[in-house]
Amino acid sequence: MAGKDYYDLLGVKKGVSDKEIKQAYRRLARKYHPDVNAGDKSAEAKFKEINAAYEVLSNKENRRKYDKYGDKWQYADQFDEAERQQAQYRQYSRGGGESSHFGGDIGGLDSIFEELFGGGRGRVFSRRSQPSRGHDLESPVEVTLEEAYAGTSRTISLQMEAPCSVCKGSGMIQNLPCSACRGSGAVPQIKRLEVKIPPGVATGSRIRIAGKGQPSYGGGTSGDLYLKITVRPHAKFERRGDNLHTEVPVPLTTAVLGGEVQVPTPKGKLALKIPAETQNGRVFRLSGQGMPHLGKSARGDLIARVSVVLPTKLTDEEKELFRQLSEARPA
Ligand SMILES: [Zn+2]
Repeated sequence: MAGKDYYDLLGVKKGVSDKEIKQAYRRLARKYHPDVNAGDKSAEAKFKEINAAYEVLSNKENRRKYDKYGDKWQYADQFDEAERQQAQYRQYSRGGGESSHFGGDIGGLDSIFEELFGGGRGRVFSRRSQPSRGHDLESPVEVTLEEAYAGTSRTISLQMEAPCSVCKGSGMIQNLPCSACRGSGAVPQIKRLEVKIPPGVATGSRIRIAGKGQPSYGGGTSGDLYLKITVRPHAKFERRGDNLHTEVPVPLTTAVLGGEVQVPTPKGKLALKIPAETQNGRVFRLSGQGMPHLGKSARGDLIARVSVVLPTKLTDEEKELFRQLSEARPA
Protein backbone atom coordinates (compact mmCIF):
# COMPACT_ATOMS: atom_id res chain seq x y z
CA MET A 1 0.00 0.00 0.00
CA ALA A 2 1.14 3.49 -0.72
CA GLY A 3 2.26 5.52 2.22
CA LYS A 4 4.64 4.37 4.88
CA ASP A 5 8.09 3.29 3.90
CA TYR A 6 8.92 -0.25 5.04
CA TYR A 7 12.36 0.79 6.23
CA ASP A 8 10.86 3.65 8.21
CA LEU A 9 8.35 1.26 9.76
CA LEU A 10 11.17 -0.93 10.98
CA GLY A 11 13.20 2.10 12.01
CA VAL A 12 16.21 1.21 9.86
CA LYS A 13 18.08 2.78 6.96
CA LYS A 14 17.69 1.46 3.40
CA GLY A 15 21.12 -0.07 3.08
CA VAL A 16 21.22 -2.09 6.29
CA SER A 17 22.05 -5.79 6.45
CA ASP A 18 19.45 -8.55 6.59
CA LYS A 19 20.54 -9.20 10.14
CA GLU A 20 19.80 -5.63 11.24
CA ILE A 21 16.37 -5.84 9.63
CA LYS A 22 15.68 -9.04 11.53
CA GLN A 23 16.81 -7.49 14.81
CA ALA A 24 14.74 -4.36 14.26
CA TYR A 25 11.70 -6.46 13.42
CA ARG A 26 12.08 -8.65 16.52
CA ARG A 27 12.42 -5.64 18.77
CA LEU A 28 9.32 -3.97 17.32
CA ALA A 29 7.32 -7.18 17.14
CA ARG A 30 7.89 -7.72 20.86
CA LYS A 31 6.91 -4.15 21.57
CA TYR A 32 3.65 -4.16 19.58
CA HIS A 33 2.64 -7.79 19.97
CA PRO A 34 -1.10 -8.13 20.74
CA ASP A 35 -0.26 -10.32 23.74
CA VAL A 36 1.40 -7.40 25.50
CA ASN A 37 -0.99 -4.74 24.18
CA ALA A 38 -4.35 -6.36 24.77
CA GLY A 39 -7.18 -4.22 23.39
CA ASP A 40 -4.84 -1.54 22.01
CA LYS A 41 -6.07 -0.98 18.44
CA SER A 42 -3.21 1.31 17.38
CA ALA A 43 -0.63 -1.20 18.62
CA GLU A 44 -2.43 -3.91 16.67
CA ALA A 45 -2.34 -1.78 13.50
CA LYS A 46 1.32 -1.06 14.03
CA PHE A 47 1.99 -4.76 14.55
CA LYS A 48 0.34 -5.53 11.23
CA GLU A 49 2.38 -2.85 9.48
CA ILE A 50 5.73 -4.03 10.75
CA ASN A 51 4.83 -7.59 9.83
CA ALA A 52 3.93 -6.50 6.30
CA ALA A 53 7.21 -4.57 6.08
CA TYR A 54 9.22 -7.50 7.37
CA GLU A 55 7.54 -9.94 5.05
CA VAL A 56 8.80 -7.97 2.06
CA LEU A 57 12.22 -6.90 3.35
CA SER A 58 13.14 -10.34 4.69
CA ASN A 59 12.81 -11.82 1.24
CA LYS A 60 15.88 -11.14 -0.88
CA GLU A 61 14.09 -10.87 -4.21
CA ASN A 62 11.20 -8.83 -2.86
CA ARG A 63 13.58 -6.51 -1.05
CA ARG A 64 15.45 -5.91 -4.30
CA LYS A 65 12.17 -5.05 -6.02
CA TYR A 66 11.14 -2.82 -3.16
CA ASP A 67 14.48 -1.01 -3.21
CA LYS A 68 14.04 -0.34 -6.88
CA TYR A 69 10.34 0.35 -7.13
CA GLY A 70 9.21 1.32 -3.62
CA ASP A 71 5.56 0.71 -2.85
CA LYS A 72 5.00 -0.33 -6.50
CA TRP A 73 7.38 -3.24 -5.97
CA GLN A 74 4.70 -5.78 -6.80
CA TYR A 75 4.71 -4.51 -10.37
CA ALA A 76 8.46 -4.95 -10.66
CA ASP A 77 8.10 -7.61 -13.31
CA GLN A 78 5.91 -5.34 -15.42
CA PHE A 79 8.35 -2.46 -14.99
CA ASP A 80 11.25 -4.66 -15.93
CA GLU A 81 9.32 -5.84 -18.95
CA ALA A 82 8.48 -2.27 -19.91
CA GLU A 83 12.14 -1.34 -19.61
CA ARG A 84 13.11 -4.30 -21.72
CA GLN A 85 10.62 -3.26 -24.38
CA GLN A 86 11.87 0.29 -24.33
CA ALA A 87 15.38 -0.94 -24.89
CA GLN A 88 14.12 -3.03 -27.76
CA TYR A 89 12.30 -0.12 -29.35
CA ARG A 90 15.36 2.05 -28.91
CA GLN A 91 17.34 -0.50 -30.81
CA TYR A 92 14.56 -0.90 -33.35
CA SER A 93 14.47 2.79 -34.13
CA ARG A 94 18.26 2.88 -34.43
CA GLY A 95 19.73 6.35 -34.27
CA GLY A 96 16.31 7.86 -34.09
CA GLY A 97 16.62 7.22 -30.39
CA GLU A 98 16.84 10.82 -29.44
CA SER A 99 13.57 11.68 -31.04
CA SER A 100 11.93 8.37 -30.31
CA HIS A 101 8.93 7.94 -28.10
CA PHE A 102 10.69 5.13 -26.41
CA GLY A 103 14.18 6.52 -26.51
CA GLY A 104 15.59 9.77 -25.33
CA ASP A 105 14.93 10.56 -21.77
CA ILE A 106 14.05 7.24 -20.32
CA GLY A 107 15.82 7.87 -17.13
CA GLY A 108 14.88 5.22 -14.70
CA LEU A 109 12.46 4.81 -11.92
CA ASP A 110 11.04 8.30 -11.77
CA SER A 111 10.22 8.47 -15.41
CA ILE A 112 8.79 4.97 -15.43
CA PHE A 113 6.54 5.84 -12.52
CA GLU A 114 5.54 8.99 -14.21
CA GLU A 115 4.81 7.07 -17.34
CA LEU A 116 2.93 4.25 -15.75
CA PHE A 117 1.34 5.90 -12.79
CA GLY A 118 1.48 9.61 -13.42
CA GLY A 119 -2.18 10.50 -13.27
CA GLY A 120 -3.06 7.47 -15.33
CA ARG A 121 -1.43 8.86 -18.44
CA GLY A 122 0.30 6.52 -20.83
CA ARG A 123 3.99 6.71 -21.25
CA VAL A 124 3.88 6.65 -25.01
CA PHE A 125 1.23 8.99 -26.08
CA SER A 126 0.98 11.78 -23.62
CA ARG A 127 3.89 11.71 -21.37
CA ARG A 128 5.82 14.89 -22.02
CA SER A 129 4.71 18.45 -21.86
CA GLN A 130 6.78 19.01 -24.99
CA PRO A 131 5.26 16.70 -27.60
CA SER A 132 7.89 14.37 -28.95
CA ARG A 133 8.43 13.51 -32.58
CA GLY A 134 7.45 10.05 -33.77
CA HIS A 135 10.44 7.84 -34.36
CA ASP A 136 11.90 7.05 -37.77
CA LEU A 137 11.17 3.76 -39.45
CA GLU A 138 13.21 1.84 -41.96
CA SER A 139 11.97 -0.61 -44.53
CA PRO A 140 14.04 -2.76 -46.88
CA VAL A 141 12.97 -2.65 -50.54
CA GLU A 142 14.29 -4.81 -53.35
CA VAL A 143 13.93 -3.64 -56.94
CA THR A 144 15.03 -4.83 -60.36
CA LEU A 145 17.54 -2.87 -62.39
CA GLU A 146 14.77 -1.83 -64.76
CA GLU A 147 12.80 -0.49 -61.81
CA ALA A 148 15.87 1.33 -60.53
CA TYR A 149 16.29 2.77 -64.00
CA ALA A 150 12.77 4.04 -64.49
CA GLY A 151 11.65 4.53 -60.91
CA THR A 152 8.81 2.51 -59.45
CA SER A 153 6.41 2.22 -56.56
CA ARG A 154 5.82 -0.36 -53.87
CA THR A 155 3.23 -1.14 -51.30
CA ILE A 156 5.09 -1.86 -48.10
CA SER A 157 3.98 -3.06 -44.70
CA LEU A 158 5.27 -1.14 -41.74
CA GLN A 159 5.22 -2.18 -38.14
CA MET A 160 4.11 0.83 -36.16
CA GLU A 161 2.70 1.46 -32.74
CA ALA A 162 -0.88 2.42 -32.14
CA PRO A 163 -2.50 3.42 -28.86
CA CYS A 164 -3.69 0.33 -26.99
CA SER A 165 -7.44 0.07 -27.50
CA VAL A 166 -7.98 -1.63 -24.14
CA CYS A 167 -6.56 1.18 -22.03
CA LYS A 168 -6.90 3.90 -24.70
CA GLY A 169 -3.17 4.42 -24.68
CA SER A 170 -2.97 5.28 -21.01
CA GLY A 171 -1.19 2.06 -20.06
CA MET A 172 -3.38 1.80 -16.96
CA ILE A 173 -6.64 0.18 -16.06
CA GLN A 174 -7.97 0.98 -12.61
CA ASN A 175 -4.50 1.92 -11.38
CA LEU A 176 -2.92 -1.29 -12.59
CA PRO A 177 -0.73 -1.68 -15.64
CA CYS A 178 -2.88 -2.69 -18.61
CA SER A 179 -2.30 -6.36 -19.35
CA ALA A 180 -3.06 -6.00 -23.06
CA CYS A 181 -0.09 -3.68 -23.63
CA ARG A 182 1.81 -4.51 -20.44
CA GLY A 183 1.48 -0.95 -19.29
CA SER A 184 3.18 0.54 -22.32
CA GLY A 185 0.02 2.14 -23.73
CA ALA A 186 1.07 1.01 -27.20
CA VAL A 187 0.45 -2.03 -29.32
CA PRO A 188 2.13 -3.03 -32.57
CA GLN A 189 0.18 -2.25 -35.70
CA ILE A 190 0.85 -3.17 -39.31
CA LYS A 191 0.30 -0.30 -41.69
CA ARG A 192 0.38 -0.60 -45.46
CA LEU A 193 1.74 2.27 -47.42
CA GLU A 194 2.36 2.98 -51.09
CA VAL A 195 5.78 4.51 -51.66
CA LYS A 196 7.49 5.91 -54.73
CA ILE A 197 11.04 4.89 -55.53
CA PRO A 198 12.81 7.49 -57.66
CA PRO A 199 14.89 6.63 -60.74
CA GLY A 200 18.59 6.05 -60.11
CA VAL A 201 18.51 4.17 -56.80
CA ALA A 202 21.36 1.76 -56.15
CA THR A 203 22.02 -0.94 -53.61
CA GLY A 204 22.61 0.88 -50.34
CA SER A 205 20.52 3.94 -51.25
CA ARG A 206 18.44 5.24 -48.38
CA ILE A 207 15.36 7.03 -49.61
CA ARG A 208 13.78 9.34 -47.07
CA ILE A 209 10.03 9.68 -47.13
CA ALA A 210 9.30 12.57 -44.85
CA GLY A 211 6.56 12.23 -42.27
CA LYS A 212 5.75 8.60 -43.01
CA GLY A 213 7.44 7.13 -39.94
CA GLN A 214 5.82 6.51 -36.58
CA PRO A 215 3.13 9.11 -35.88
CA SER A 216 3.45 11.11 -32.70
CA TYR A 217 0.36 10.60 -30.62
CA GLY A 218 1.41 13.37 -28.29
CA GLY A 219 0.80 16.08 -30.87
CA GLY A 220 4.36 16.20 -32.22
CA THR A 221 5.41 15.61 -35.81
CA SER A 222 5.62 12.15 -37.31
CA GLY A 223 8.97 10.47 -37.85
CA ASP A 224 10.37 9.77 -41.30
CA LEU A 225 10.39 6.56 -43.25
CA TYR A 226 13.62 5.37 -44.83
CA LEU A 227 13.61 2.88 -47.67
CA LYS A 228 16.77 0.83 -47.71
CA ILE A 229 17.26 -0.19 -51.32
CA THR A 230 18.72 -3.34 -52.78
CA VAL A 231 18.92 -3.60 -56.57
CA ARG A 232 18.89 -7.19 -57.80
CA PRO A 233 21.75 -8.24 -60.07
CA HIS A 234 20.90 -8.27 -63.78
CA ALA A 235 21.74 -10.96 -66.31
CA LYS A 236 22.75 -8.49 -69.03
CA PHE A 237 24.02 -5.41 -67.27
CA GLU A 238 26.76 -4.84 -64.79
CA ARG A 239 26.38 -1.58 -62.99
CA ARG A 240 29.41 0.45 -62.00
CA GLY A 241 28.27 3.67 -60.41
CA ASP A 242 25.75 5.02 -62.89
CA ASN A 243 27.43 3.41 -65.90
CA LEU A 244 26.10 0.16 -67.25
CA HIS A 245 28.37 -2.40 -68.84
CA THR A 246 27.07 -4.95 -71.29
CA GLU A 247 28.39 -7.37 -73.84
CA VAL A 248 27.18 -7.15 -77.46
CA PRO A 249 27.39 -10.24 -79.62
CA VAL A 250 28.54 -9.27 -83.14
CA PRO A 251 28.50 -11.80 -86.00
CA LEU A 252 31.88 -12.40 -87.62
CA THR A 253 30.79 -10.96 -90.97
CA THR A 254 29.44 -7.77 -89.35
CA ALA A 255 32.66 -7.34 -87.39
CA VAL A 256 34.71 -7.75 -90.56
CA LEU A 257 32.59 -5.85 -93.06
CA GLY A 258 30.84 -3.39 -90.75
CA GLY A 259 27.10 -3.08 -90.14
CA GLU A 260 24.58 -2.57 -87.41
CA VAL A 261 23.79 -4.48 -84.22
CA GLN A 262 21.18 -4.16 -81.51
CA VAL A 263 22.44 -3.12 -78.08
CA PRO A 264 20.25 -3.86 -75.03
CA THR A 265 19.45 -0.96 -72.69
CA PRO A 266 17.15 -1.04 -69.66
CA LYS A 267 14.44 0.65 -71.74
CA GLY A 268 14.79 -1.45 -74.88
CA LYS A 269 17.19 -2.01 -77.74
CA LEU A 270 19.29 0.59 -79.50
CA ALA A 271 20.94 0.33 -82.91
CA LEU A 272 24.74 0.60 -82.87
CA LYS A 273 26.82 1.09 -86.02
CA ILE A 274 29.75 -1.27 -86.18
CA PRO A 275 32.61 -0.04 -88.36
CA ALA A 276 34.35 -2.48 -90.66
CA GLU A 277 37.17 -4.52 -89.11
CA THR A 278 35.91 -4.13 -85.58
CA GLN A 279 38.03 -6.24 -83.25
CA ASN A 280 36.75 -8.55 -80.59
CA GLY A 281 36.60 -6.76 -77.21
CA ARG A 282 36.28 -3.28 -78.69
CA VAL A 283 34.30 -0.98 -76.44
CA PHE A 284 31.65 1.49 -77.53
CA ARG A 285 30.37 4.16 -75.18
CA LEU A 286 26.72 5.10 -75.59
CA SER A 287 26.62 8.44 -73.87
CA GLY A 288 23.67 9.08 -71.56
CA GLN A 289 22.23 5.56 -71.96
CA GLY A 290 23.24 4.38 -68.48
CA MET A 291 21.47 4.76 -65.14
CA PRO A 292 19.96 8.08 -64.10
CA HIS A 293 21.90 9.96 -61.43
CA LEU A 294 19.68 9.79 -58.36
CA GLY A 295 17.88 13.10 -57.94
CA LYS A 296 19.35 14.61 -61.13
CA SER A 297 18.38 14.64 -64.75
CA ALA A 298 21.82 13.55 -65.99
CA ARG A 299 22.54 9.92 -66.76
CA GLY A 300 25.50 7.60 -66.82
CA ASP A 301 26.73 5.88 -69.98
CA LEU A 302 26.20 2.46 -71.45
CA ILE A 303 29.48 0.72 -72.16
CA ALA A 304 29.02 -1.90 -74.88
CA ARG A 305 31.79 -4.43 -75.36
CA VAL A 306 31.94 -6.29 -78.63
CA SER A 307 31.95 -10.05 -78.49
CA VAL A 308 32.55 -11.45 -81.95
CA VAL A 309 30.56 -14.60 -82.56
CA LEU A 310 32.18 -17.15 -84.83
CA PRO A 311 29.83 -19.09 -87.11
CA THR A 312 29.03 -22.71 -86.36
CA LYS A 313 27.33 -25.51 -88.35
CA LEU A 314 28.92 -24.32 -91.59
CA THR A 315 27.54 -25.59 -94.89
CA ASP A 316 29.92 -27.08 -97.46
CA GLU A 317 29.60 -23.89 -99.44
CA GLU A 318 30.56 -21.74 -96.46
CA LYS A 319 33.50 -23.98 -95.66
CA GLU A 320 34.68 -23.53 -99.23
CA LEU A 321 34.45 -19.74 -98.86
CA PHE A 322 36.56 -19.84 -95.70
CA ARG A 323 39.08 -22.09 -97.48
CA GLN A 324 39.36 -19.51 -100.24
CA LEU A 325 39.74 -16.77 -97.64
CA SER A 326 42.39 -18.76 -95.90
CA GLU A 327 44.34 -19.17 -99.17
CA ALA A 328 44.04 -15.49 -99.97
CA ARG A 329 45.32 -14.55 -96.47
CA PRO A 330 47.70 -17.23 -95.26
CA ALA A 331 48.46 -16.98 -91.54
ZN1 LIG B 1 -3.21 -1.07 -22.76
